[in-house]
Amino acid sequence: MTNKLRYFIANWKMYGDLKSLKSIGTVINFVKSNKKKKFKLIYCPPYTIIHSFYNKIKKTHIKIGAQDCHQNNDNGAFTGSINAQMLKNLGVKFVIIGHSEKRKNGDNDTIINKKIKSALQNNLTVIFCIGETIQEKRKKLTKKILRSQIFKGLKNIKLNNRIIIAYEPIWSIGTGIIPKNFELIENVNFIKNLLVNKKSTKKVKVLYGGSVNTKNIDNLKKIHSLDGFLIGGASQNSKKLIDIVKKSFI
Ligand code: PEP
Repeated sequence: MTNKLRYFIANWKMYGDLKSLKSIGTVINFVKSNKKKKFKLIYCPPYTIIHSFYNKIKKTHIKIGAQDCHQNNDNGAFTGSINAQMLKNLGVKFVIIGHSEKRKNGDNDTIINKKIKSALQNNLTVIFCIGETIQEKRKKLTKKILRSQIFKGLKNIKLNNRIIIAYEPIWSIGTGIIPKNFELIENVNFIKNLLVNKKSTKKVKVLYGGSVNTKNIDNLKKIHSLDGFLIGGASQNSKKLIDIVKKSFI
């Protein structure tokens, strides 16, 4: 049993339509009947259903996040893009930035840094994703990669409680394979210490993401330094998501 506040970020990726919103009813009831439990649940659906999702959850403790935002703060000729200001107008409070699936499609550290700045300017809380590939892990480069992603992504940004780090080893995302507890503890502590060294007085929250499911949560929840979880695949099933949150508090 833990008494620590934990975040659960449900990343729906490119899944979900208006019909999928029906299944959220059970999650809303669960959240309403567990008001005293210390957790925050944030759904990050695709842009297309953010508005409808927001209308459904606005009277609850659930919050809405987006999966990305454009780096430009102002409107402009950026076909297909959505900026942080637009998200804010929709009732969005959180935004995932630097997800490996976006990095793979061209988001480099400079773009990520600009996106984080724009999100913060619009009072969004940033879920900043970092993590190493399997090749980097095998070459024992994990810490070097994490340090580089953090310092480049947060360049000229003053740390505050609207920046949450999600440590997501790329080899864990969608594979069913998760790090051993000792590896996770070591890397989470490394990230937290790095951020303390960045002259921050605030404690930065660090989440874990990568194949979190109803089985491995029993083990993951024991890692006290973790401030929560970023959940992809399993979060699209309301029953599984409720189970993950529930088990974290047993
Ligand atoms: C993710 O989308 O960031 C993620 C962790 O996905 P999954 O839980 O499916 O591995």
